[in-house]
Amino acid sequence: MYGCAVSANSGHRRLPVRLAALIVCSLFALALVLSAAFILAHANHEHDHDGGDGGCAACAQITAFVDTLSRAGAAMLVVAAVTGGLFGTAALLKSAAPRFADFTLISLKIRLNI
Ligand SMILES: [Zn+2]
Repeated sequence: MYGCAVSANSGHRRLPVRLAALIVCSLFALALVLSAAFILAHANHEHDHDGGDGGCAACAQITAFVDTLSRAGAAMLVVAAVTGGLFGTAALLKSAAPRFADFTLISLKIRLNI
């Protein structure tokens, strides 16, 4: 009875979190697509190095996007390695758990009411 009520409430709580995660992922994917479109549109642009900072604005945006992609790729590699390590450790512990489950106080005949 209580289990049904708790699971129903937790289902309602998960929906905004999933929606927020979907929105964040969608915005990230949209930013990647728009950045790639910007790079493709300005791939053969005429450089304007006579601007205020002495640098080309299009080249600066392209460089910033490439730096962001390289950092995101490195972060994804770290997250994938950590996640893989956690799942590997969990699989090892799960396979080793039945070996330790045989050693209980009852199977070892240890009395606690002395
Ligand atoms: Zn340029």
